[in-house]
Amino acid sequence: MKTAKRALVVGGGVIGLTSAFQLARRGWLVTLFDPSLGRGATWAAAGMIAPSAEIGPGEESNYELQSGALEAWRTFAAELREITKKELSICETGTLLLGWDGSDRRLVDQFALVAADLGVALRRVSRAERPSMFDGVSDRIAEGLLVDGDAWLDPDQVVAHVSEANAQLGVTIVSDSVVSVCGDGRHVQAVTAHDSFEGDVGIIATGADALPKGATPSGSHVVRPVHGITVRVRGIDRSTQPMIRSFVRGNTVYMVSRPGGYDVLGASSEERLEAGAQVGEVQRLLRDALDVVPALETAVVLETREGNRPASDDLRPFFEVLVDGRWAWSSGHFRHGVTLAPIAAREALRFAERVA
Ligand SMILES: Cc1cc2nc3c(=O)[nH]c(=O)nc-3n(C[C@H](O)[C@H](O)[C@H](O)COP(=O)(O)OP(=O)(O)OC[C@H]3O[C@@H](n4cnc5c(N)ncnc54)[C@H](O)[C@@H]3O)c2cc1C
Repeated sequence: MKTAKRALVVGGGVIGLTSAFQLARRGWLVTLFDPSLGRGATWAAAGMIAPSAEIGPGEESNYELQSGALEAWRTFAAELREITKKELSICETGTLLLGWDGSDRRLVDQFALVAADLGVALRRVSRAERPSMFDGVSDRIAEGLLVDGDAWLDPDQVVAHVSEANAQLGVTIVSDSVVSVCGDGRHVQAVTAHDSFEGDVGIIATGADALPKGATPSGSHVVRPVHGITVRVRGIDRSTQPMIRSFVRGNTVYMVSRPGGYDVLGASSEERLEAGAQVGEVQRLLRDALDVVPALETAVVLETREGNRPASDDLRPFFEVLVDGRWAWSSGHFRHGVTLAPIAAREALRFAERVA
């Protein structure tokens, strides 16, 4: 009888969880390690799958990579449904891109040029023509750019559904940090403070956190943490309307509105190591959000979540096989890890099937 191959997955954020799922549904015996599963950057994420609206300077190549993400999520949701019999909601609302003042509107125009060059479907919309699309938006903003093809999902729901599927598929969860890893070309080993575990392949998906000891990259990738917060409020229900993204005094602010008036406002972006949502950071985010959506004035603040985006040198995600050949490092997903998770998970499966 053929024995199942064993995979070790270090890190249970959206990348590790979805990778564990793909491996387990293909018959791998998976052990997933994380002392605080789902509480890294994934916890803070707004859940936008917004390859178009998130095109940033120097990140055009990411657009190409991400343009297949929505389809990948639809397939992933169907695969999940087969196991859990539950529906993962993917809300294909598009994004309404706005500018707060004259210079912000020029940034919208510049965005339109870059996006049109990349073939993104865009159209100008005015308040007069589509009043409901501007519900809650400041009266001084009379028009915007509707970016089709963007969607959002709820990362908490992703973590819950994938965890449930993983449990049904027999994935073993070890609620401990992996302190070191090693591999001898035929097997891999992960060591926690309490035990050691053997497998045939290993995936390291520790986000912006340091690699465990013994993990030796074969290439030149490095990852740095880019801190960010989202503020969750109970406010207005714009869930049937596009997500809002706006330039405000040169910064960007966004609002993802879920049914029932649960709004996610985001996001700060700071290269600092200290943890915690700083008062100034929260104030700037709420000020910008209120300027664009004054209807949030009476919204109730529910919580602030923070996380570190894993940013690589060229701001592109990578999947790097480590020197021992049986461990691979999946990281660098930066602002797009939720978007890219099903694609990264497929890559983890391809790698495991290739080396096993
Ligand atoms: C404010 C904010 C908003 C964002 N919004 C979006 C968005 O709307 N759309 C989008 O696509 N992306 C968004 N992102 C980016 C996205 O959250 C990240 O790219 C993604 O979560 C990275 O996933 P990950 O699994 O690599 O890392 P993480 O989610 O950080 O998970 C890494 C996990 O590894 C565990 N770990 C670390 N070291 C070890 C170890 N030694 N042993 C065991 N476990 C370990 C940690 O506990 C953690 O749970 C946002 C990020 C932030 C901060």
